Amino acid sequence: MISFYPGPSRVDDHIPEYVQEACKKGIVSINHRSDEFMSLYRRTVKLLKKKLKIPEDYNVIFLSSATECWEVIAQSVVQGLSYHFYNGAFGEKWFEYTRKLNNGAIGYRFGMNLLLKTGELDLSEQPGVICLTQNETSNGTQIQTKQFEKLRAKYPEHILAVDATSSMAGIELEFKTADIWYASVQKCFGLPAGLAVMICSPKAIEWARTYDERDHYNSLPRLLDMMEKHQTTCTPNVLGIYLMMRVMESRPKISVLEKSIIERYNKYITLLEEVSLSHLISQPEARSFTVIPVKGDEDYIANIKSKAKKKGIVLGNGYGEYKDTTFRIANFPAITNSEVEKLTDFLRDFSKSGSH
Ligand SMILES: *Cc1c(COP(=O)(O)O)cnc(C)c1O
Repeated sequence: MISFYPGPSRVDDHIPEYVQEACKKGIVSINHRSDEFMSLYRRTVKLLKKKLKIPEDYNVIFLSSATECWEVIAQSVVQGLSYHFYNGAFGEKWFEYTRKLNNGAIGYRFGMNLLLKTGELDLSEQPGVICLTQNETSNGTQIQTKQFEKLRAKYPEHILAVDATSSMAGIELEFKTADIWYASVQKCFGLPAGLAVMICSPKAIEWARTYDERDHYNSLPRLLDMMEKHQTTCTPNVLGIYLMMRVMESRPKISVLEKSIIERYNKYITLLEEVSLSHLISQPEARSFTVIPVKGDEDYIANIKSKAKKKGIVLGNGYGEYKDTTFRIANFPAITNSEVEKLTDFLRDFSKSGSH
C-alpha cells in the first residue's frame, strides 16, 4: 500500500534499517542523562539547523507532539492575551486548548479562500502571543512568508508562534519572521509519530524566562534549562531523535528539497485540471504546497477512495467538516516519484472510466 495520508504518513524508506541500527548500537537503551545522549541531542540539533536553515541563535527543544506544543505555549508563553487567527480545524483546536487555560485567548476565524489580511488587524497595544497555523492540514491552505513579514513589522512587540506541523522539513520557512515554530514529525519529516520539535527565538526565550512559569513538568523554562545541558525534563523518545538524526543526515538542504516539492505540487495542480477535479481552495495563493485537498460529492469521494485502495493507493480522508466531501493528497518528501506517478496514472484512468 502506498500512503498519501497527510499524517501519520509514509515514513522515510530507510526507517527499518535505522531502527535495527539503533537496536544494535544500544541507542534504544541509553540513559538520557548520559554523554552519549547529550551528543545525540547536539548532533541532531546541529543537523536540523543546517538542513532547515534555522538561525544560529534560535534554540531547539524536543517534545512529544504538536498538541503538547499547544499546551506548553498556552501555559508558559501566553501570559494574558493570545490572538488566534485560523481558518481550519487545527488552528481552531489550538485556540480551544489555549482558551481552557487562559481566558485572554481571542479567536479570529478567516475564510479559507482569503489570505490573512494583516493590515486590517488591530491588536491591543499590550503585547500578546499571535498564534498562526502556517499550513492548515485540514483544508490544505498556507500562510505565506510575506504575511509573516508584515505581521512582524506591524507588531514587533508581540510574540509570534507558528504551528508548522505539516510543512516544516518540506518547505523553506523563514524562521526569522516569528519567535516560536513547532512541528510533530509524522508529516514532512517522514518519521514515526511520538516526537515534536519546538524552535525558539532569543526573544521567545527571554519572554518565557521573564514570565518564569514552572508549575508543570513541561513548563518552558524547565525545558530550556534542560536544553542548555542537551537534555530533556523527562525520558524522551530517544529512538525518535536518533531516527530524526539519521533522516536529516540524508536529506538535501531545504531550499533544494522545497524546489522538488513545489514542482510536484504544480504537477498535481495541472493534473487536477486535466482530470476535471477541483481543489478545495479556489484562491491559488492560499493553497498549501504539502497538503492537497480535492473536493467532490460524497458518493464520488467514497468511490474514488475505494477504487484507489484496490490499486494499493491510500488517499487521505478529508478532515473535520470536509471528511466526506474531500480526499487529501500528502505531498511530503518521503513519497517517491514513482509513487506519485502511480497516483497520477490512477487518477487519469479513473477519470477516463467515467466515474464522475
Ligand atoms: C497533525 C497536526 C497537529 C497534531 O499533531 P500531533 O502530533 O497529533 O499532536 C497539529 N497541527 C497541525 C497543523 C497538524 O497538521
